[in-house]
Amino acid sequence: MAMSEFEIIRRYFADRGVRRADVVVGIGDDGAVVRLPPDSDLVTVVDTLVAGVHFPVETRPEDVGYKSLAVNLSDVAAMGATPAWATLALTVPRPDEAWLSAFARGFFELADRCGVQLVGGDTTRGPLTVTVQVQAWVPKGQAVRRSGAKPGDLIYVTGTVGDAGLALRAWQQKIKLPADHGDYLFARLHRPTPRSAEGAALRGLATTMIDISDGLAADLGHILEASGVGATLNLREIPLSASFVAVAGGWNEFHDEGDRLRVALTAGDDYELCFTVPATLRKRAEDIFSRFACGCRAIGVIESAPGLRLRQGDGTLLSLRQSGYDHFCQDRRDEGQ
Ligand code: ADP
Ligand code: MG
Repeated sequence: MAMSEFEIIRRYFADRGVRRADVVVGIGDDGAVVRLPPDSDLVTVVDTLVAGVHFPVETRPEDVGYKSLAVNLSDVAAMGATPAWATLALTVPRPDEAWLSAFARGFFELADRCGVQLVGGDTTRGPLTVTVQVQAWVPKGQAVRRSGAKPGDLIYVTGTVGDAGLALRAWQQKIKLPADHGDYLFARLHRPTPRSAEGAALRGLATTMIDISDGLAADLGHILEASGVGATLNLREIPLSASFVAVAGGWNEFHDEGDRLRVALTAGDDYELCFTVPATLRKRAEDIFSRFACGCRAIGVIESAPGLRLRQGDGTLLSLRQSGYDHFCQDRRDEGQ
């Protein structure tokens, strides 16, 4: 490389962003050394984004930097953990200064906002690939898992679903977004807000939690499977943004499995939290949710009968195990997501 690996690290990644008191050794040695709070468990997550596979090659580098960290912070939030440290393994085809500088800007914008310090990494040459690992902590024994939902537990979701899915379709030029909603929807795709404070506030309350990366139906499905239960969702309670409704229509116009349902429930990239709470804790839970700027909605209930059912506006039930769901899966494969 014209610019050496060490030059890249020095210029773009070392001595940047927040400095945490619990980092004993950061960038510059063979390994990073950090100090966990007393009586805590370490939670560690990692995600790789490959250009052309996980993001379109023409994605803005600042968005790649931001999102490579955001998807990890979303996993951390889903464990009910508090994020603290990150490492970055970056593979670039050539040392493109404009690209690296914009990438780092996006990465540190979010890292600083969340109080996460970059403590190490690896820099190599090859096809553009970004791997970020985040370390986080939870009070001992309090990590929130996918198993543990019981019949009667209420199912909640933060924010709104389907926005990123609509934006991705627009990006793929399957639909057109009006200018007044496009900015919001594209920001939801490229700059998801990890629900970090919300996830941490739910430990000790949520019986299970997951972040929605593959669509509400699939990710809630993971909770159901891990917990050995089923669920019914009320279609009209599923939160949609004003922009989603303006572009794709609300549930009122929905009669059968269709595009809107598919996008809102299966398109993915929402990075919202889906979790369960015992019905007896509803009041306490809703007091906590009132502090969530992103909002939080009860969308259904856990049942002992396996499978995921959708109650439509007219009261009829649609089973997501019916053929419609298989079509959705087929389409998703076709789209290469
Ligand atoms: P080593 O050869 O011992 O593996 P490297 O030369 O790869 O070390 O890295 C030197 C230092 O820079 C290490 O502390 C490493 O963690 C850090 N580092 C390398 N690449 C990055 C990066 N992209 N972001 C942050 N830190 C990095
Ligand atoms: Mg070494």
